[in-house]
Amino acid sequence: MNNSRTWRWFNIKKINSIGYGHRIIGLALLFLALIPICCFVVELIFQKTIFSTLRNISIGIGFLVSLFFIGLLSIEFCQDKKIEQQYSNIRRYKLKLDNGKFECQSCGNRQLMENEKNCVICGMKFNDNTWKCPKKFNYCFIFIV
Ligand SMILES: [Zn+2]
Repeated sequence: MNNSRTWRWFNIKKINSIGYGHRIIGLALLFLALIPICCFVVELIFQKTIFSTLRNISIGIGFLVSLFFIGLLSIEFCQDKKIEQQYSNIRRYKLKLDNGKFECQSCGNRQLMENEKNCVICGMKFNDNTWKCPKKFNYCFIFIV
């Protein structure tokens, strides 16, 4: 496995399309449906072939916007899958904090003591070892930002 290539892939900022995904879908629908329908109606009225060309251009742009959105979603889902894998790998560990206490990786409770075997908030039963962020996990903090 080529590590440098993997690192470059995961240095992409975390994509979250919740805030703007509907706008991209709306833009695609505009070019795929609304503009072509308008062009079709105007073409029927005025009998000009230029509207047929405009309709085809609009549909082409709509497909490009759709392909862009599918690509964006694919990257986002890959990132989400990687985050989920990392989370499921560490959720049974306690993370040692600077103040001497520990953090539950399942629920985020930061008041755990070293000798506690279960989280008092979520009930997670911990592994015996304390989790320390290995070097290969550092990228997760980069692309969650
Ligand atoms: Zn917990």
